[in-house]
Amino acid sequence: MPLLELTDLRVHYGGIEAVKGISLAVEEREIVTLIGGNGAGKTTTLRAISGIKRPTSGSIAFRGKRIDGQPAHQVAKLGIGHAPEGRRIFGRMSVRENLEMGLYAAGRGGATGVKASFDRVFALFPRLAERQRQAGGTLSGGEQQMLAIGRALMTRPEVLLLDEPSMGLAPIFVERIFDIIREINEQGTAVLLIEQNAHMALSVARRGYVIESGSIVLSDEAGKLLGNEQVRKAYLGEE
Ligand code: ATP
Repeated sequence: MPLLELTDLRVHYGGIEAVKGISLAVEEREIVTLIGGNGAGKTTTLRAISGIKRPTSGSIAFRGKRIDGQPAHQVAKLGIGHAPEGRRIFGRMSVRENLEMGLYAAGRGGATGVKASFDRVFALFPRLAERQRQAGGTLSGGEQQMLAIGRALMTRPEVLLLDEPSMGLAPIFVERIFDIIREINEQGTAVLLIEQNAHMALSVARRGYVIESGSIVLSDEAGKLLGNEQVRKAYLGEE
């Protein structure tokens, strides 16, 4: 049984169908990437999984149990962490308060294991440990990205949904973020990763899906997608 399984998922915004019957799976401890161009439906898929956007039809199962239709805080509590696009951190709150929000959002404030969560996040991101009292809004872009990922890890999720973690970052930060994604995965967390940087995403993932206009057009082992002519032309900028 896959850890996370989407079956024929459809999502609409009013009359527009953004996700048109997507089926995909993430196995335990696996890194899976979803690549595709602008407006393909990647963010919408993640928002449906984490309960932010209600799907029109189809199903989302976590460990074999349906979770579609459940509110976001409940989905977070079950073990699904989401670091959204554009970081969405709380600018006026301190780094530490932002991380605590990750727990409260999932109804886990005051739960046991809070110290372990902070320890894990600070071990992954020493920069956040140094800047615990700094306002989130004054962090650099790369640091805000670390904070968004750290916040999603506070509930110690079994699967982490990452939406464009490399967006807007300098190349050196991009490398660092991908190293951290590997490290998070080696600690036992499965990852569903959305990326415009298809080369990096396919280098870190075990499997990948290519999504175009709301539908999956290709899926394979990441190494095979890296060698696929269609993928090379459309997403790796090669002739
Ligand atoms: P990008 O890489 O550009 O972020 P994406 O693959 O993540 O793209 P989505 O953000 O999921 O794509 O968008 C899929 C489609 O749904 C697009 O056509 C988009 O315009 C539309 N869409 C997304 N959010 C909304 C919304 N709140 N209201 C109406 N349409 C929306």
